[in-house]
Amino acid sequence: MVAFLSAKAGMPLPVADYSQLLVEGDEAQEAATYSVLGSDALPRQPDDPSQDWAIVHELTHQWWGNLITCETLKDFWLNEGITTFMTAAWKQHRYGRAAYEAELNEARSRFEKARAMGFDKPLAWNGTYPTLGVRRAIQYSKGALFMAQLRVTLGDAAFWSGLRRYTRDHAGGTVTSIDLKRAMEEASGRDLRPLFAEWVFGEGLSEGQSQ
Ligand SMILES: [Zn+2]
Repeated sequence: MVAFLSAKAGMPLPVADYSQLLVEGDEAQEAATYSVLGSDALPRQPDDPSQDWAIVHELTHQWWGNLITCETLKDFWLNEGITTFMTAAWKQHRYGRAAYEAELNEARSRFEKARAMGFDKPLAWNGTYPTLGVRRAIQYSKGALFMAQLRVTLGDAAFWSGLRRYTRDHAGGTVTSIDLKRAMEEASGRDLRPLFAEWVFGEGLSEGQSQ
């Protein structure tokens, strides 16, 4: 997992020592230099692609979340959407394309539930979410789906190049959604305003506001 994530980030694991602490229960929480994982969140069978999400998700936060941190909680999706997407990307690498699709389908069904409740917000929406589940449906699930959409739109080469650029350029610092947009635009040579307006900033925002 470390080798895969390092290659995709274009940067090695940012800490010299990293541990995962096993505790009882369903804990799954990243911290600087370690993560806490509950035994309920761990795989019960070897090589089951549905079961290793917590291990890779919390490890992924060493790059996206800790090394690079959203400037305010308005852009929390940058921590969690990218990490949820990278969990799917790991599954594709480790288990194959069907495992990637299955992870994205899980995100899609969570997002659809929030939509069915009449709650679809742009990723960088700054309002108050009614429940933790709905907030996660947007910031984690919709965020992951947006990253998957960017990957399809740009193609693998430009997409991964853009992610490496974003990661290297902002390592040790804080980010907003504009930083991701700029890195992806520079890597692909494309104008991504329409896509980011649709998914991230909301159609109603003018460019001035979204910038
Ligand atoms: Zn997370």
